[in-house]
Amino acid sequence: MMNLFNYNLNNQYKNLIHKINIKREEIKYYSNELLGKQTEKLQNKLKNSKISNQDVIIEAFATMKETIFRSTGMTLFDVQILGSLIMNNGNIAEMKTGEGKTLVALLPAYLHSLENKGVHIVTVNDYLAERDANLAQKIFSYLKISIGVITQNTKSKDRKEEYTKNITYITNSELGFDYLKDNMAIHKNDILQRNFNYAIIDEVDSILIDEARTPLIISGTAKIQKNFYQNAYKISNNLINKIDYKIDEKSKSIVLTVEGISKCERILEIENLYNINTPWIKYIINALKAKELFIKNKDYIVKENQITIVDEFTGRIMTGRRWSEGLHQAVEAKENVKIESENKVLASITYQNLFLLYNKISGMTGTAKTEEKEFINVYKMNVVSVPANKKCLRKDLPDLVYKNEYSKWEAVANECADMYKKGRPTLIGTTSIKQSELLSEMLKTLDIPHNLLNAKPENVAKESNIILKAGQYKTITIATNMAGRGTDIVLGGNAKIVTDKKMESYISNKYYKDNQTKELNENEIQLIIEQIKFTLDNKQEVNKNLNNIDNLAIIYKKIESKTTLECEEAKEKILKLGGLYVIGTERHESRRIDNQLRGRSGRQGDTGESRFFLSLQDNLFRIFGGKNIETIINKLNIDDNTPIESMLLTKSLNSAQKKVEAYFYDIRKQLFEYDEVIHSQRKAIYSERKKILTYTFNRDCIIEYGEQTIQEMLNIYYQNRNKKFILDKIIILLNIKLDINILLKMSDNELKHYFNEQLRVSYDLKEIYLEQLRPGLIRQLEKYYLLQQIDKAWQEHIDKMSLLKEYIGWRSYGQQDPLIEYKNEAFNLFINMITYIRQTVIYLLMRSRLIVDM
Ligand code: ADP
Ligand code: MG
Repeated sequence: MMNLFNYNLNNQYKNLIHKINIKREEIKYYSNELLGKQTEKLQNKLKNSKISNQDVIIEAFATMKETIFRSTGMTLFDVQILGSLIMNNGNIAEMKTGEGKTLVALLPAYLHSLENKGVHIVTVNDYLAERDANLAQKIFSYLKISIGVITQNTKSKDRKEEYTKNITYITNSELGFDYLKDNMAIHKNDILQRNFNYAIIDEVDSILIDEARTPLIISGTAKIQKNFYQNAYKISNNLINKIDYKIDEKSKSIVLTVEGISKCERILEIENLYNINTPWIKYIINALKAKELFIKNKDYIVKENQITIVDEFTGRIMTGRRWSEGLHQAVEAKENVKIESENKVLASITYQNLFLLYNKISGMTGTAKTEEKEFINVYKMNVVSVPANKKCLRKDLPDLVYKNEYSKWEAVANECADMYKKGRPTLIGTTSIKQSELLSEMLKTLDIPHNLLNAKPENVAKESNIILKAGQYKTITIATNMAGRGTDIVLGGNAKIVTDKKMESYISNKYYKDNQTKELNENEIQLIIEQIKFTLDNKQEVNKNLNNIDNLAIIYKKIESKTTLECEEAKEKILKLGGLYVIGTERHESRRIDNQLRGRSGRQGDTGESRFFLSLQDNLFRIFGGKNIETIINKLNIDDNTPIESMLLTKSLNSAQKKVEAYFYDIRKQLFEYDEVIHSQRKAIYSERKKILTYTFNRDCIIEYGEQTIQEMLNIYYQNRNKKFILDKIIILLNIKLDINILLKMSDNELKHYFNEQLRVSYDLKEIYLEQLRPGLIRQLEKYYLLQQIDKAWQEHIDKMSLLKEYIGWRSYGQQDPLIEYKNEAFNLFINMITYIRQTVIYLLMRSRLIVDM
């Protein structure tokens, strides 16, 4: 067991862990029933307003330690409790892969669930949400804490209930989309989520850093100009790189040269490509981007006649996501697939602002320290590294740099062949599908059996399964980055899973022998296995009629102990070979992602090794390497097959990588700063909307809107000479008959009171009239018009804001800080929108009899 005093840990933490462990010794002797009463006991303590959940932390955490032990047989390590304490403080616990973070999250989750305001544990994919929720279910059933889970497959009608559970497991994208949808709901019963209280974010860097570059968007369709895309595509093929246009790979942008501009104008037979009334320029630039910067099977795949985005970091297929502002259509034109309608953004939010809606957040991951600055600045979360339970024995070998890409891949393939002969499990990380397939082909020619794991949809389901096996003897696995993230690679194989597999074949064989009729299908077998496990978990509740299952359970136990032994032996053998060997084939856009790949090896004190094979033609060198690298190569006179090991090279490589990190940080920072402006507006609109949606009586709101509108129009009246014109407008707006000459004689104050009075009288009459026609109708109409106008105006506002951002970008060459300019103009747009909403709602309601008459 590790000794925490070896580490320079805060005394306070040491002290707390000590107290938790002591308290647990006491709870150990509780019966299951008494343990189950802990939740109620702690909740009763919290009913005293002077006591906060932080005052019961020792007892709550000790309860969890005992419950985890009782339900799973695992005893939490002190470093795990340390991780829980760090998260409880609203920080990020950095703990290596395999350290058992799934359990670590349960302690702060339990403590916060006592308040019954909701706890979300956010994961990166459905598989992990399900897996972790199942484990939590098993553990928390002792404590009467309910566990919910929401994945892509959760039906809308079930979601609300899942959100009301004490603790809910959910993926980041389901969480975000439900939030946006909730704020577009038409009936209050359609609202799914409670207010955001506390979230624990697993793989926090993946969610708050990698995914934070693209906002979540819900879009509707608008009209589409197919011809423009197709023609722009043809034109782009007539344009020549470096002559007609220039590419900036760094910022993924393209500019036309003077030659290019006049060529386009000639082809299109127009005078000025940049005339605001000719839309061509946007289409041509997008077509060029599609041609030069978006590469098939790297940035996207074509499946079922559709363009599907591949995430550049993870290599994952981003089903349903589309590039915005016409780019997706440009790629569709290039690939000659159906051009989908242009999207109109109905609602959007960045992950940064989504998670800032919580009262409290914490996170955990294996790799966050390198991005600590960003976590502090944006989320006010510190990153605290937790020492590993057992010292990490992995050796990270120095990079090998080859002159060209081909010799690099050849070297990687040969290395795999060597490892295969030795039997040492090897995991090769690639940055794209194309590369993983290339390596796979090379291994095939060398006759090396291997598993290929990439973002292609047919593989996604098998992903975790393959990763689980990646630690077995003679297993070579090729994976795009972070495929199977969150799944632990166990050397020698995962005994539990191997046992299940063996049991499956046993059952199906036995059944066939006994019955000789038909074979059991996979679902039937799974059901039996579940029953067996249930029997084993709940030994005291065995149903005497299920004798058959009891027998199978005994066999299962036998297979399990044999398999466990076998796996342990296999592990010993592999450790002697040096443990899991991880090969990187390209430095990534941040050191953090390199570390993630390396971190697959050397878990829980295992030995292991990692090495990166690079080439001077890699993107990082090419784009960010600069002159330095070229000079070094020219000085070195070496052949293609000899790797270069040079300190100087490693140094400039590191600095190139830091440049990339800084570059992407700036992009995220900018996105965040701009989204912050719209975010405060979004919060205002959403809260007004929610108020209207949940009230049954919105009359006061209407009268208030009316009075504000009158005031606003009178303000214009005071400044405007043409008083008659304005007064006419007010009369039209309120839809009332008044003598304008009398009005013109009134003082300002009199006018205001008079109009307000008229508004009420006239609205009362309307109400009585409609109430006779159909009782309750007026209340429905109010709500309907309010929501309809708010939504319509807000969507138009989003459009204007994105245009504004673009224009400001063009203008930003001047002196002014573009962000300040953006803020000012955004404020004006917002005020205009609000005024517009109030006016149209009043206008429509004052005429609502027409709708009834029709
Ligand atoms: P991480 O998320 O940190 O990569 P996981 O939560 O997936 O790690 O756990 C990795 C493995 O370690 C799991 O199989 C889990 O059951 C096991 N594990 C976690 N904590 C303990 C413990 N205290 N004792 C024994 N095994 C543990
Ligand atoms: Mg994990």
